[in-house]
Amino acid sequence: MSCACLSVKSAVFKKSPKSSMMNQLEAYKNKRDFSKTPEPQGLTGQKQNGMVYAVQKHHAKTLHYDLRLEMSGVLKSWAIPKGPSADPSQKKLAIPTEDHPLDYAHFEGIIPPGQYGAGTVILWDRGTYKNHKDDISLQQALKQGKLEIFIDGQKLKGSYVLLRTGKENDPKPRWLFIKMKDDYADASANLTQTHPQSVLSGKTIEELEEENS
Ligand code: MN
Repeated sequence: MSCACLSVKSAVFKKSPKSSMMNQLEAYKNKRDFSKTPEPQGLTGQKQNGMVYAVQKHHAKTLHYDLRLEMSGVLKSWAIPKGPSADPSQKKLAIPTEDHPLDYAHFEGIIPPGQYGAGTVILWDRGTYKNHKDDISLQQALKQGKLEIFIDGQKLKGSYVLLRTGKENDPKPRWLFIKMKDDYADASANLTQTHPQSVLSGKTIEELEEENS
């Protein structure tokens, strides 16, 4: 099988499809045919301890990384074309994409040809994160365009900032994902090069593609 999804122990299992979270996932669902793609449908609203952080490496039309942060019952998402860095001098372009369901943070596999985002996905990093500021909520910070967070992943660690460039209502918003200076900052690190493997399967994206070709 192409999907190495983790089984998730869910503390809360919501059956009602009419929650606001479901409406938040409309764009996600409209783009996908779940009879053809192995990606999660986001039916369950699984809740876990801590707030989920994940980065997926996604070889679609172009190779990129997808940053996912749990917020308000979904995964807020940004595509990072060049991948994240532990070097504070590197300002990484991060383009907002549609909210994804929480269980997407466990997804690894092949999105079939013809489907939205067709290509190979590995779970490049995962863990938890928290708000680095106590005077502003994550939701407010997102709206204002400056999220300061503390990431506890297997590869990314420490404080990071997501910074929107331009105005709030810009139809094509652009953000920057930047490592903040702390004990985890490392100007010589090149994590995407030195740590290419999935934290789920241990495979590189090339190995997963090879297996499924
Ligand atoms: Mn992607």
